[in-house]
Amino acid sequence: MITPLMPNYARSELAFERGEGCWLVTADGRRVLDFGAGIAVNVLGHAHPHLVEALTEQAKKVWHVSNLHNVPDAERLAKRLIDATFADSVLFCNSGAEANEGAIKMARKYHASRGEENRYRIVTFEGAFHGRTLATIAAGGQKKYLEGFGPKVEGFDQVPFGDRKALEALIGPDTAALMIEPVQGEGGLREVPTEELRYLRDLCDRHGMLLIFDEVQTGVGRTGKLFAYEWAGIAPDIMSIAKGIGGGFPLGAVLAVEKCAAVFTPGTHGTTFGGNPLAMAVGNAVLDVVLAPGFMEDVQRKSLLFKQKLAGLVDQHPKVFESVRGAGLLTGLRCVLPNGDVTAELRKENLLVVPAGDNVIRLIPPLNVSDAEIDIAVGMLDKAARNLEATLVRGAAE
Ligand SMILES: *Cc1c(COP(=O)(O)O)cnc(C)c1O
Repeated sequence: MITPLMPNYARSELAFERGEGCWLVTADGRRVLDFGAGIAVNVLGHAHPHLVEALTEQAKKVWHVSNLHNVPDAERLAKRLIDATFADSVLFCNSGAEANEGAIKMARKYHASRGEENRYRIVTFEGAFHGRTLATIAAGGQKKYLEGFGPKVEGFDQVPFGDRKALEALIGPDTAALMIEPVQGEGGLREVPTEELRYLRDLCDRHGMLLIFDEVQTGVGRTGKLFAYEWAGIAPDIMSIAKGIGGGFPLGAVLAVEKCAAVFTPGTHGTTFGGNPLAMAVGNAVLDVVLAPGFMEDVQRKSLLFKQKLAGLVDQHPKVFESVRGAGLLTGLRCVLPNGDVTAELRKENLLVVPAGDNVIRLIPPLNVSDAEIDIAVGMLDKAARNLEATLVRGAAE
């Protein structure tokens, strides 16, 4: 018989009643250390007092008015994002996939508005993940997400990761944009080297193409800068964000330079919920914390500490872990054993992590994780690795 919730997820046995910072607590009092952060969403952990206050205060005033009217907090959040980034204008929406849809539509419209209606193709990169809508599964190009959903949305071309020859061979007069995650999230925490991002910027400039960064996972401090593109010293034309900006409240956004944003004239694009007062209250509250002096430096310091300890685990447990991956607190371990087995064993030790492609486990704690909590997580990883090694020894003896 069909379950009340559709069977498209393989959920764990855990259900949580509440959260406190980096910890989640089940109804029967089991405390679990959350190094998954709701898939890089809860950047300030659970029940952060400043976020709780912002949301509850707003909830007493007005929840939703639609985009038929002004939302002053939306203007405020947009201005703050503009001040902190390359962007000149912001569009709010509700999720990462929706932000990417907006980015894709904007790139196509940009060329159409300049008389190049046929210039709509977008180049993406192997191993990419851009969401689960029809256009974003076409952009991601992964067979397992495309199968059974009819013809792939036209206009997406994919090249192998880091293959400049293939990329340049693919670019033609109908290429509108390149779209890339500065660090692949779902794909297995593969970092695009700085020189490669600079090369892509240059390539776009030479061909009049737009550069789109999908910072849905890398954004809002995850890599130790507000946005990952800052590390490369170049900027995209269009950037999608989501996950972290809402701290757990559904919120996404498209950030763009003026020439791109200007094509979204009245009636061209829209969303009913995007930028509603509740989401804007939380988004502003998240920025209050992550933009505070010293916050990013502390993320950078903790990520170095964490990575050193993870490297130690790789040395101690070569049969379980292969290498350290990622940037900032978008960290992970490439596993030798299947990452699903490692994830399940860690859950037994009360540590939540998130599997990714390429046999990686993501360790993506709230950005306000403490040094002590990092130590606890490393202890749990060590214990789980020893348990798994013991299983291997037993398996070999049988
Ligand atoms: C999670 C993610 C998305 C999709 O976001 P949703 O909110 O699930 O639609 C898109 N791009 C990247 C890089 C992501 O990590």
